[in-house]
Amino acid sequence: MAALSERARRLMRPSLAGLEPYDPGFTPTRVILSANENDYGMPAEVHDEVMAAMSGVATNRYPDPMSNRLRDAIAGWHGVARGNVFVGDGGDECLFDLFLAFGGQGRRLVNCPPTFSVYALYASMVDTEVVDVPRDPETMALDAAATLAAAADADLVVLTSPNNPTGDLVPVDLVSKVCDACPGLVLVDEAYGEFAPAGSSAEPLLPAHDNLIVLHTFSKAYCLAGARCGYLLAAPDVVDALAAVRQPYSVSSLTQAAAEVVCRRRDAFEPAIASTVAERARVIESIDALGSSLPIRVWPSEANFVLVRVPHASQLRARLRDEYSILVRDFSDVDGLADCLRVTIGTPAENDLLLDALATLVKEES
Ligand SMILES: *Cc1c(COP(=O)(O)O)cnc(C)c1O
Repeated sequence: MAALSERARRLMRPSLAGLEPYDPGFTPTRVILSANENDYGMPAEVHDEVMAAMSGVATNRYPDPMSNRLRDAIAGWHGVARGNVFVGDGGDECLFDLFLAFGGQGRRLVNCPPTFSVYALYASMVDTEVVDVPRDPETMALDAAATLAAAADADLVVLTSPNNPTGDLVPVDLVSKVCDACPGLVLVDEAYGEFAPAGSSAEPLLPAHDNLIVLHTFSKAYCLAGARCGYLLAAPDVVDALAAVRQPYSVSSLTQAAAEVVCRRRDAFEPAIASTVAERARVIESIDALGSSLPIRVWPSEANFVLVRVPHASQLRARLRDEYSILVRDFSDVDGLADCLRVTIGTPAENDLLLDALATLVKEES
């Protein structure tokens, strides 16, 4: 994508003039392991139901602004009430609405990088100060004591569990302490929660903590990245505040219909989730084995991706793409992630291709 023109920058709101259009770094390849999507795809019978539901939608009518039928399905799934559910055009829209409603000048976000870059981006777009509590550069672990201390003066704290791109969980008892310490709101982003062990979710804390918000998305485990649908679970007055700032019709009726089917048929996604979890262990073990003789390192992960450190990461990524037609995500220019790549766990055949290519390329680049 072209950089912004000087004219556009002059015309833009000053606080936004440093931005560039988002570029996911996508090129079509045979194996796509760059965006943490579900590479197994929608189960065939669910796909047919999704298409049938979408074909019944009257697209001449505006959608239900609050996605109430979908909210009911989500509420039933998670054991909460409709009033605790906010649906957005992807988790990203939920995040944007959250910063729009609760951020702003004089407000402070506590962020724990390296993490999902969208938090700091949206916070700064609405002039919210970002207070970074960096992770341990070696283990990538959260600094629990510093996070708790910073939470005491925060308007918003974001904890990502499992974290993107480091793959680690936030302990539920830490979430509870942060909620107690923070006078503002605490968001736990569980976009990858389906791949984590049972008992890792912060959701059971919701009834006792009215400042806790839990984010989920249909984009990762549930094969709707292209349809765009995510949601938050929160106290009803937080949901109402988000409803007040949202773009009324951002979640299309087609998306609402598709997500309702996926909610109802969520069990059909379990085999792919279980296979991803098993493959994650195999990929980590194989990379660890490579690491005994070659300069490659992998971090543990509870998500559907792993973070690896390799020699000449940017060049190695380009060679994976150009010589093997395998796409992964380069994080090597992010603070704390020198020479790091993030690799989505794909199907067994895709993971085999990746592991073979890595073995060859790491040897050649070292
Ligand atoms: C992918 C992702 C999301 C949300 O993605 P959407 O496609 O907008 O639903 C939120 N948080 C994290 C950490 C993610 O990686």
